[in-house]
Amino acid sequence: MGAAFPNSLWAATAPDRVPSAPLKGAAETDVAIIGAGFTGLSAAIEARRRGHEVTVVEANAAGWGASGRNNGQVIPILTSAEPDVWVARYGDAGRRMVDLIGNSADVLFDLVRDFDMQAEAEQSGWFQPAHSPGRVALSRKRVDAWQRFGFPAELKTAEETAEILGSSFWYGGMYNPTGGHINPLALAREMARVAEDLGATLHEDSPVTSFDRVGQDWVIRTAQGTLKARALILATNAYTGQIAPRLAPRIARSVVPVLSWQMATKPVGDNLLAKLLPGRQAVSDTRGDLRFFRYDARNRLITGGAVMGNVDVENRVRRKAANSLAEAFPELGVPEMTHVWSGYIGMNWDRFPRVHKIGPDGWAWVGCNGRGVALGTSLGRELARAATGQPEDELALPVTEPWAFPAHAIVRRVAPAYLTWLKRQDKKEINL
Ligand SMILES: Cc1cc2nc3c(=O)[nH]c(=O)nc-3n(C[C@H](O)[C@H](O)[C@H](O)COP(=O)(O)OP(=O)(O)OC[C@H]3O[C@@H](n4cnc5c(N)ncnc54)[C@H](O)[C@@H]3O)c2cc1C
Repeated sequence: MGAAFPNSLWAATAPDRVPSAPLKGAAETDVAIIGAGFTGLSAAIEARRRGHEVTVVEANAAGWGASGRNNGQVIPILTSAEPDVWVARYGDAGRRMVDLIGNSADVLFDLVRDFDMQAEAEQSGWFQPAHSPGRVALSRKRVDAWQRFGFPAELKTAEETAEILGSSFWYGGMYNPTGGHINPLALAREMARVAEDLGATLHEDSPVTSFDRVGQDWVIRTAQGTLKARALILATNAYTGQIAPRLAPRIARSVVPVLSWQMATKPVGDNLLAKLLPGRQAVSDTRGDLRFFRYDARNRLITGGAVMGNVDVENRVRRKAANSLAEAFPELGVPEMTHVWSGYIGMNWDRFPRVHKIGPDGWAWVGCNGRGVALGTSLGRELARAATGQPEDELALPVTEPWAFPAHAIVRRVAPAYLTWLKRQDKKEINL
């Protein structure tokens, strides 16, 4: 048995899945994928759609990593990797990446619709309210940029923002109508079902201990089996090196896994539903010490946060998130949290996701920086296209060499202190 799922709302509500058999003995495939989150499963679906044999090897179970633990916000905009900078850094590949990001929410919701996935999907929009008057200028700048690149983004006034949220705690903000939310573990399990229905082979409970290039092939090893493949997609993201410490060490050291806490309130009463976030958008504000929330299908508010230190963390983060909701929505009171869980987000130094070529027909991406639900689904598809012969210059793959943090273990230990810096920045006004 692989590691158990955390005690999350998603584990309590997602339809069960019968796990596939572990990898045993010697097997062969065309495209091997390590990791069954949104990236790996989306890649498997695309590889099958393109007619290639594909095998996914997962240490635990489909959706066990970040994909089954997140807030489920489908967001077609990254935390701080802005469209113009993608183009300035990577030219045409950067431009294609902007298109991939801008289309990523639609790609995810289309996938859900095309395969009738039961994932509690609501394409109700994504809203980023500004937490200070100066941040409204930041919202305006982002709206201008996304509109220039041809994507729908709208600037909302303070009054419109108060109407959307049912609170005048924020000052305006950026709205994107293609975003929304899903039950992430349900989506991961549905993506696994669809991949299998299309003919992909999945092996869960199969931690990969190593992969190597042997002659013209990739050879992937687990404790009980080997898998030979022409092409390889490493889809382990923030969990790279967490399960098998020697797996892709340079890539593992290029991201800092930071624990993010998530939690769910009891269902919000009908009396408040019509006032508090009546349009059911997914919401994440402009703070670095982020405030975020959305409804699930049972009208619970799903929120979360992070705290410094490692003493009594779960209780402190629970109190902090409950108080944050109460501050913005006094009618709610301080909500009781029924489920609290956590997972790793892969952060890199400049908060830009990275795509790596790990060898001939070998691909990986890391560094979601908290925005990987829509991005992972689209990038998984793109990596599958690369692994099945689509020319690189047609794809949104700005390839770089991994840059490993020196003294990664120390950086990892001190990374939570970054929150203090973020909080200080949040309090400073900006002038754009
Ligand atoms: C708490 C939290 C909240 C988040 N909220 C949001 C949000 O609301 N919106 C958003 O856009 N993004 C969010 N994210 C980010 C998003 O969840 C991730 O970017 C995305 O799910 C990454 O998907 P993935 O498939 O690339 O990686 P993962 O889902 O992490 O999958 C990697 C898989 O690789 C497997 N694996 C690792 N090592 C091995 C090995 N040796 N052998 C075999 N398998 C292995 C793991 O078991 C895991 O299942 C959040 C992340 C977290 C942790």
